[in-house]
Amino acid sequence: MFQGEFAETSPQGQKHVYPTSLLVTTERARTMEYKWSNTGNFTRKSYTCGHCGHKVGPDKGYSCSVERAGGEKEVGRAAYIYICPHCTRPTFFDADQTQIPGVRIGSEVVGVTDKNVEALYDEVRDCAAAGAYTAAVLVSRKILMNLAVHKGASEGKSFLEYVEYLADKGYVPPDGKEWVDVIRSKGNEANHEIRIMRKDDALLILRFVEMLLRFVYEFPSMMTKPAKQEKAGTTQKPDSGEGVV
Ligand SMILES: [Zn+2]
Repeated sequence: MFQGEFAETSPQGQKHVYPTSLLVTTERARTMEYKWSNTGNFTRKSYTCGHCGHKVGPDKGYSCSVERAGGEKEVGRAAYIYICPHCTRPTFFDADQTQIPGVRIGSEVVGVTDKNVEALYDEVRDCAAAGAYTAAVLVSRKILMNLAVHKGASEGKSFLEYVEYLADKGYVPPDGKEWVDVIRSKGNEANHEIRIMRKDDALLILRFVEMLLRFVYEFPSMMTKPAKQEKAGTTQKPDSGEGVV
């Protein structure tokens, strides 16, 4: 491998080498760069890219005029698709400035060695960003079960037993007892009563899961991989270097 290249190993164990110009940040977008044709130049737009998590300010993309129902055209109203200069993926802003895709809620956690947990955590963040709060709580519950098993709990136990297990093993701070009680009740409600979860419920559990992932994966990885300490400290950035050499 030469300077200007990076390599990664596929799930099938095959090693691939790519030019670093293709290096973007998310697991899904890591090896693709999109080339967009006939883009226009617009007023620079600042936003956080929902694909890669970077704060960007592109001035290139596409636009269209917008007509409200009834045929009355609103002068000056327009919708835009901006192209992220970092990951080259498109973001749509409608005439009311709604951003699609939205920004993932919660912060990136690095050093997660269990790919299932990593994918589930991304899914929780995506669910919360999309307003799918009940789904976010249910997936959070699955992460907690995975974490407990990863830390030695036996499989096939109830969700409540796994939460208690994590608390008993010291993965919840001393003042986190109230959190555990709330998580326990929310997770249980969502599973057995299918109660529709509110945004507050989902965000609370998302933060709790994020904290646990830091304790279980990120902090230990900082000790065992000193070269990654600096990157691990900037956890807002998705480009943790994970999987990239
Ligand atoms: Zn991007």
